[in-house]
Amino acid sequence: PLDAPRRPIRELPDELVSQIAAGEVVERPASVVRELVDNALDAGADQITVRLVAGGIRAIVVEDDGCGIPPEELPLALKRHATSKIGSLAELEGVTTMGFRGEALAAIASVSETAIVSRPVDAPQARRLDARSGELQPAARGQGTSIEVRELFFSTPARRKFLKSEATELSHAVEAVRRHALARPDVGFAIWHEGKLVEQWRRATHEQRMADVLGADFVDQSRPVDFQAGPMRILGRAGLPEAARNRSDHQYVYVNGRYVRDKLIQHALRSAYEDVLHGQRQPAYVLFIDIEPTRVDVNVHPTKIEVRFRESGEVYSTVRRAVERTLALPAGAALPAAPL
Ligand code: ADP
Ligand code: MG
Repeated sequence: PLDAPRRPIRELPDELVSQIAAGEVVERPASVVRELVDNALDAGADQITVRLVAGGIRAIVVEDDGCGIPPEELPLALKRHATSKIGSLAELEGVTTMGFRGEALAAIASVSETAIVSRPVDAPQARRLDARSGELQPAARGQGTSIEVRELFFSTPARRKFLKSEATELSHAVEAVRRHALARPDVGFAIWHEGKLVEQWRRATHEQRMADVLGADFVDQSRPVDFQAGPMRILGRAGLPEAARNRSDHQYVYVNGRYVRDKLIQHALRSAYEDVLHGQRQPAYVLFIDIEPTRVDVNVHPTKIEVRFRESGEVYSTVRRAVERTLALPAGAALPAAPL
């Protein structure tokens, strides 16, 4: 017999729903940084500054010079499932922005002390919204948005306990920005930790940005990839086998500008390098896979780190061929466009 009496079904309060959702999206300071930089990029920012205190555990502030948020929409920005990025299923299927779920800010605000300071184009003044009190006040800043996230997981000590040292959290947060910076050389990035400049990447060409972020060695010891097949184009650089490393830390794959960790693509890359690499050596690569948005589903995982391809077999063989052919070329030769 059941010993626990059944409790009636109840709707959970909004705050609790957001805290539950936050479990999927917000694992550590780096996840917050990632979401806030996504938003800054979606807002069309040219310059993004990330400021951290205690590895991001005490404070994360992301400032941009993007389009801003009108004061009357500030409370909506924090509401779950509220977004300016899509409005229909058709738009979801062709989505080109980093965000679209309208969940990140609500989730972050439910597990931290969050405030938004924003000044849209042509607005005479900035406004600051404190998420917890709901208070809206005049504030000072130029065009754009600052999101301030303090005391992450202060209300959920169980989660806070999973955080690592400040140094480790800082390095994850820097890595989150590095992933964005590789994909967006047209945007300037700066990262500050407790008043010290940790990284600065000025606007540059793609190749210069890779050198700035991964080191000049990476560019010297890799070949440019430029491969087109049907609805797919693959750009970037593939590291030479001689330059393979013991660590897999220089492996970056993007699908339509979004950093992904995709099993299918990783497998395709492993097989492309299989015959030329020895033992556990790890190739370095930065690959940008561009594919018609309707052929890829990015709405598979709340953090969008996984994707699903409509024609996964084609994607697999195209990625593999792109890298195999690049590696097989005599040094200095250009890769001809593949037949469709
Ligand atoms: P999503 O990015 O999926 O839309 P978020 O919760 O991350 O959801 O953000 C909610 C909304 O707040 C966005 O759709 C956008 O309109 C607005 N917003 C958030 N950050 C910024 C920013 N830095 N600049 C301008 N608007 C922003
Ligand atoms: Mg977002």
